[in-house]
Amino acid sequence: MSTPEASGEGFHRAFGRPPEGIWSAPGRVNLIGEFTDYNDGFVLPLALPFATQACVARRDDNLVRVASAQRLEGGRFSVVDAALDQLRPATTSGWVSYVLGVVWALREAGENIGGVEIHIDSDVPIGAGLSSSAALECSVALALHDLYGLKLSLQELARVAQRAENEYVGVPTGIMDQTASLRCRAGHALFLDTRTLEVRQVPLDLEPAGLTLLVVNTGVKHALGDSAYANRRRDCQRAAKELGVAALRDIAPEKMDAFLAQIADVVVRRRARHVISEQSRVLEVVGLLESGRLAEVGPVLSAGHWSLRDDFEVSCAELDTIVEVAVASGACGARMTGGGFGGSAVVLLELAAVQAVTMAVAKAFATRGFGTPEITEIVACDGASRVA
Ligand code: ADP
Ligand code: MG
Repeated sequence: MSTPEASGEGFHRAFGRPPEGIWSAPGRVNLIGEFTDYNDGFVLPLALPFATQACVARRDDNLVRVASAQRLEGGRFSVVDAALDQLRPATTSGWVSYVLGVVWALREAGENIGGVEIHIDSDVPIGAGLSSSAALECSVALALHDLYGLKLSLQELARVAQRAENEYVGVPTGIMDQTASLRCRAGHALFLDTRTLEVRQVPLDLEPAGLTLLVVNTGVKHALGDSAYANRRRDCQRAAKELGVAALRDIAPEKMDAFLAQIADVVVRRRARHVISEQSRVLEVVGLLESGRLAEVGPVLSAGHWSLRDDFEVSCAELDTIVEVAVASGACGARMTGGGFGGSAVVLLELAAVQAVTMAVAKAFATRGFGTPEITEIVACDGASRVA
């Protein structure tokens, strides 16, 4: 990860002075509970050891100046300027919208944010389903919150960041990513009820049990993603409407079959089956983790993957390969994580199996003509904080 010193130097190179402080916000991987967040359901993310750092200093005029070490032009910082009173949703495109969106959303929430200089540096893989977007939003949101002495709760700040992404950038995501980036705790997964926004820290004591997690970044993002996301979301709303409930989370998993039989369209029925069964998988995984039956989580993860592949139809050959090969070479279980059609998968396995599984997945990717996967062993880290 980029050190605070290196990020501070980046700020200095972009703006010619030191920052007032540095804030760091992690990416996340969702252990289980995929596509449940826009159905008011449960999710279980953990914060990654990859994070985005925002170096920030206030200005005494109304200018917002933004630069990112991941968006250099010809090796030089390209600083984007925007006037505070000109910030309007959907008027800018590209990465700066995520930053300007946070400033806009805070001001919309009635907070008196003035001009600022913001420099971004990150080691969260971008567009890999590990939520570099929330890491970016949350690092900026927390920085502005602290610098301007705001009194928002972390959950309120997550809402601000979500609003930036939904309304300013125009991406209709749920509340999971921002909540995870702000509220996760080291050594724990965050059990979040996306309807009530209640959270419970669930211990993830993998190492004493001889277990660990791998994140496998396929390095691909198949084009289908955006329209498929919107279609799935619409199908879920349609299913809830047909079943006469506010959201699919209101269907008890034990009554799933009876309810599903009432849905006429076979595709909509399968989408609903994924969401309702995924709800019970989240509860199952939380129960297993809390009772120390860690290895048994594996098959539940794999079952979640097959449901995403067959019922929700958001997987792809690369992701299926990771799950098949990881399990065949000794992993406890694995699943795609994030929006699908590429991005990343998460694998639960014994420490002793890391090498065999890593080699088997890399070999299968080579044999099948896929790119080189990026495989990283991870631990559950803390959510966002001030680091300097
Ligand atoms: P994911 O959140 O899975 O990484 P998204 O498509 O939601 O993928 O968000 C990725 C976008 O977020 C990038 O295309 C870019 O606009 C913005 N972004 C994320 N991190 C950075 C960064 N460090 N510097 C500049 N832009 C970033
Ligand atoms: Mg994102």
